[in-house]
Amino acid sequence: MAAETEYLGFGNLPNQVHRKSVKKGFEFTLMVVGESGLGKSTLINCIFKTGLKTGRKIPSVNQQLESTLKIETNTADIEERGVKLKLTVVDTPGFGDSLDSVDNCKPILDYIDDQYEKYLNHESGLNRRQIADSRIHCCFYFISPNNYGLKPLDVMTMKTLHNKVNIVPIIAKSDSLTKEEVQALKKRIVAELKTHGIQIYSIPDCDPDEDEDYKEQVRQLKAAIPFAVSSSLETHEVKGRKVRGRAYGWGIV
Ligand code: GDP
Repeated sequence: MAAETEYLGFGNLPNQVHRKSVKKGFEFTLMVVGESGLGKSTLINCIFKTGLKTGRKIPSVNQQLESTLKIETNTADIEERGVKLKLTVVDTPGFGDSLDSVDNCKPILDYIDDQYEKYLNHESGLNRRQIADSRIHCCFYFISPNNYGLKPLDVMTMKTLHNKVNIVPIIAKSDSLTKEEVQALKKRIVAELKTHGIQIYSIPDCDPDEDEDYKEQVRQLKAAIPFAVSSSLETHEVKGRKVRGRAYGWGIV
């Protein structure tokens, strides 16, 4: 009887909803945008241990002049500690290769708009139970570590996309910068985003009754934006632990 009351009380509703969601799994669609060679595929493979083809060929100048941006989607079913995730990574190979910035942005914008339209059509249809939702939940925008802030293409692209998707700006290959350089670049990027009125994804505030560790974690995450990343597909043994890292002559990052 005790078990039954525990199971039936409405206090258990969150657990039931939670269990149902966990069983059903989650869908997550992530778009990655940034110039070729910035380490997009490597980061995605690192985070999800699956995702994109790495080591794509960087196009020659002639190819770059002719090249058009493509949209490629890769879907993978991932399971971690019993939680299922259907991950779709939308890649944008060829971004930044064309000299015309409209050529770089328009196909991305069209793709995002198409997904909203598809969803709306599904929602207005009869079979609303199993809507395939391909809307982009989040867009990782990769910024080169070798520039003094944002390039005109970065500004133009983020300005075009910011009202449609959650943009998470990312400083690529940050192991090529010193700690001070990373901080200076972050500051410049934040200032430039503000100057150009670009809205990026902002991590939601915590409830006041959250525990202190969690509040601190969120505070640190907010302060770290734009995130600076370094990723690798190789594993190395450090102090008896296997870690992903980049091995240099002077040590492992
Ligand atoms: P993508 O074209 O943006 O998808 O780039 P890739 O992930 O294919 O990586 C291009 C090259 O950069 C590869 O040689 C990677 O090993 C290297 N790379 C990837 N991530 C990093 C990083 O964080 N730091 C450094 N230094 N190199 C990286």
